[in-house]
Amino acid sequence: MRYHIVTYGCQMNVHESEKIAGVLKKEGYEAADSIDGADLIVFNTCCIRDTAEKRALGNIGALKKRKKSQKELLIAVLGCMTQQKGFGESLRETYPFVDIVLGTNNLHLLPYYIRLKKPAVKIETDDTYDVGVSTETFRTSYPNAWVNIMYGCNNFCSYCIVPYVRGREISREPQEVLREIAFLLGEGYKEITLLGQNVNSYRYGDTDFAGLLREIDVLPQKFRLRFMTSHPKDLSPEAVEIIRDSAHICKSIHLPVQTGSDRILKLMNRKYTAEHYAGLVKLIKERIDGVLVTTDLMIGFPTETEDDFQDTLRLVRECEFAQAFTFVYSPRLGTVSAEMPDLDAETKKRRITELIRVQNKISKSVSETFTGKICEVLIEGTDSGGRFVGRTDNGRLVAFPQDGEYKIGDFVSVKISASKSASLVGEIV
Ligand code: SF4
Repeated sequence: MRYHIVTYGCQMNVHESEKIAGVLKKEGYEAADSIDGADLIVFNTCCIRDTAEKRALGNIGALKKRKKSQKELLIAVLGCMTQQKGFGESLRETYPFVDIVLGTNNLHLLPYYIRLKKPAVKIETDDTYDVGVSTETFRTSYPNAWVNIMYGCNNFCSYCIVPYVRGREISREPQEVLREIAFLLGEGYKEITLLGQNVNSYRYGDTDFAGLLREIDVLPQKFRLRFMTSHPKDLSPEAVEIIRDSAHICKSIHLPVQTGSDRILKLMNRKYTAEHYAGLVKLIKERIDGVLVTTDLMIGFPTETEDDFQDTLRLVRECEFAQAFTFVYSPRLGTVSAEMPDLDAETKKRRITELIRVQNKISKSVSETFTGKICEVLIEGTDSGGRFVGRTDNGRLVAFPQDGEYKIGDFVSVKISASKSASLVGEIV
């Protein structure tokens, strides 16, 4: 049987698709070149953003006709969309041609339900398939390897569905994480990215996030260590110092702020102020030489006024983010903020356009500081123009001509000759 996995959402889901592929490979299934050549199509969904959910439902619906002519085709829907209350049943009602609906913690059961050969919905939150027990993983992101250090979230930001669909925080045993990383480094991976909804609140027994970083950092191989995502209320000065002194941890920190307005931060239940956030960024920049800080910004949260928006622009200018991922707020059913009155689309559009304009200017000036410098870059792949692409230690994307001496996974020195908004161009020296 040939399978094809369609993935929506964040890096966590990309890694989860690697686990689904691992489970299927172990059973002897092979990857199809495309969705058209597959006998089993798996949708690994995401419900965090409305657009990802709509796209997934649209793509599932589009298979109705194919299922009529290809009766043996199996369609499975997994991922956090399925964890929403009543979703599995209503999906099977609306799309009766969907065969299997599984919750995020039940992906290891996929082969079992395929063999069962009858429609099934199984969504359980307490079946922790990967806590302490590693699932087979078919990795596709060499030279990077994703490693979960924790699952779930306790924060209940008022706009976010994650705590409802992914459950409470559970940290993996540090020895288990270390074993997995040591194995991956032995396999030749050059970059490890630790994953969690809020890695800073990692805790297992006496080991907190700073302690875990310290334990990973003593591994002797040459490799890069990244992590995502951090919460500004939990990133400790101790962790900042470990990053500064580390041989492996990249000098790039992604610290989602969402808004610069204290009033909106409170409504979002983020549990920090703009002043605290700006102070943290200042501390990071003072302590870690060459660090780049990136962020997430959400525009148009319910009741956001022009003054609130100006507070956000002020914070963006003050923190000089190397890059920002900008989003327009859209309500998620079941969250606290979904009960609040939504802003009009025109206002949201005007504000996001202005925010992107301001941030692009800052990103460009950060990139310009690289011109003429020689940076160590890990070759991660090639772009559509056939050039190598990789990142500097502090996270800037660099494109440069291929050189037959080097391959994906090599560290090379690249002289930066030009910059674009958030990326660089150079050549190997
Ligand atoms: S920290 Fe907030 S935004 Fe992030 S996953 Fe948890 S609830 Fe969602």
